[in-house]
Amino acid sequence: MLCTDIRKESMVNIIKTPSRFKNRIGKFAVHRSERCTSCGKCVTVCPYSVFVKAGDKMLRPKSYLCSGLKCAESEKGCVKNCPAGALSVAVNPNYKVLGDYRWTPDLIVSTWYQAETGELPYMEIESDSGNSGGGLDRIRIKARPKESIDPKKVDMRINLNKRNDGRPSLIIDMPIYGGGMSFGSISESTMIGRAKNAAAWNTLTCTGEGGYPEALHPYDNHVITQVATGLFGVREETIQRVRMVEFKYAQGAKPGLGGHLLGDKVTEAVARMRESVKGNPLFSPFPFHSVYSIEDHKKHVDWIKHINPKTLVSTKVSTPTDVEMVAVGSYYAGAHVIHIDGSYGGTGAAPEIAKKNIAMPIDYAINKTHRFLTQEGIRDKITLIASGGLRTAHDIFKAIALGADGVVIGTSEMVALECLRCKNCESGRGCARGIATTDPLLGVMFSVDWAFQRMYNLYASFDKQLRKLVAAAGCSSVTEVVGRTELLLHLDYENNENKDKDG
Ligand code: SF4
Ligand code: SF4
Repeated sequence: MLCTDIRKESMVNIIKTPSRFKNRIGKFAVHRSERCTSCGKCVTVCPYSVFVKAGDKMLRPKSYLCSGLKCAESEKGCVKNCPAGALSVAVNPNYKVLGDYRWTPDLIVSTWYQAETGELPYMEIESDSGNSGGGLDRIRIKARPKESIDPKKVDMRINLNKRNDGRPSLIIDMPIYGGGMSFGSISESTMIGRAKNAAAWNTLTCTGEGGYPEALHPYDNHVITQVATGLFGVREETIQRVRMVEFKYAQGAKPGLGGHLLGDKVTEAVARMRESVKGNPLFSPFPFHSVYSIEDHKKHVDWIKHINPKTLVSTKVSTPTDVEMVAVGSYYAGAHVIHIDGSYGGTGAAPEIAKKNIAMPIDYAINKTHRFLTQEGIRDKITLIASGGLRTAHDIFKAIALGADGVVIGTSEMVALECLRCKNCESGRGCARGIATTDPLLGVMFSVDWAFQRMYNLYASFDKQLRKLVAAAGCSSVTEVVGRTELLLHLDYENNENKDKDG
């Protein structure tokens, strides 16, 4: 049964939800020199409301609204039309130091814009791919002849229970849900905002392994609770509350390393939730010391199924070279969902060296797993979910075309809340922007409603883009895209006239 009550309550539209910071970072910096005579010409010239005149005075230009150098320097642009020659536009130096090759400054600013407006940015920004030189950034979606399918009519639902084992069906309205982030690693506003967003889209979000705060209860039907190696906050009553339980065996960002919550982040509330002591660092070991075989894994799955006869079980693993064998084993152990988590995901709490060098990139792992499950004749009996560095609607489409039924995102949600990718999540009291922290002072930097609406807008933008991509591929449902690798091309292996552009 869907939790229709909460869903109806939280059904909302895109509402413009601006940044909470006074000085926003945009790609371009508009500079006005003292030669300015406050004539106001730029106010009429600029179509993006960068310039505002209040009385006789020109206000400081809203640089983050500037669309870019092409517009600024065109015959109709502000630079050429300023009678005093007082204007210049350049790439913002603060912008240049954001992010990295995977989460480029363009992707960060584009995600902020989508979270604010629910739309792709109009600025000169690359919103579809990063610049890592590998993985999904080297894969393109082939341009195809225009199809007559209406994107609004595309069926975006996916089924998380394909086993027909007598347990309830669990159909989510989009092929995306939120990954595990624990109470302790993120603030309560972040956590509840995520749950409210999951309810609004009739999808799911995952608690991670830090327990189940009381404030999540209204969203029970949209929450996955996680059982991980530290068993923090795992209780029978929380397992009985949810429609899906996830075993986390490993995380793609740091396979083999377990988890570490700094003592500074173990506040009174976190300690209570995790049944530990305030100020003491907490470690999640690797691996589960009770699981060394598929038979052991089956005991785990049976344990959860016994405690909650209605819940589904998901198995989250990283992507070792034999990930496909793990997936098959998990199916025979009774899991409904195999969630493979590749390298490149993770917050700043995961060491860079681990993120880049241990797990298999998710693009390889998805297709390997999809093909093997198909060969084994069980592909239509288990749901394959992928995560690990998926940032955009284009990444999501690529993951599905490679063979995933759906995807899990995490970092994109944090960026929607204005994460800068500064990678300080695991330093001292945590995130200075109030996102990945449990510090009571930092945690109130934004409200649940602001967090919810920003994530809602981002999902709306993803939904819109994904529908267009699915329709352009000639499919009327997202499930028809699964495994359709012919819709993609790899820049390293193919010559194609469309190779420089996503379709
Ligand atoms: S057009 Fe030039 S001189 Fe006039 S207000 Fe704008 S910046 Fe100042
Ligand atoms: S500390 Fe905050 S802003 Fe920095 S990467 Fe972590 S979540 Fe993002």
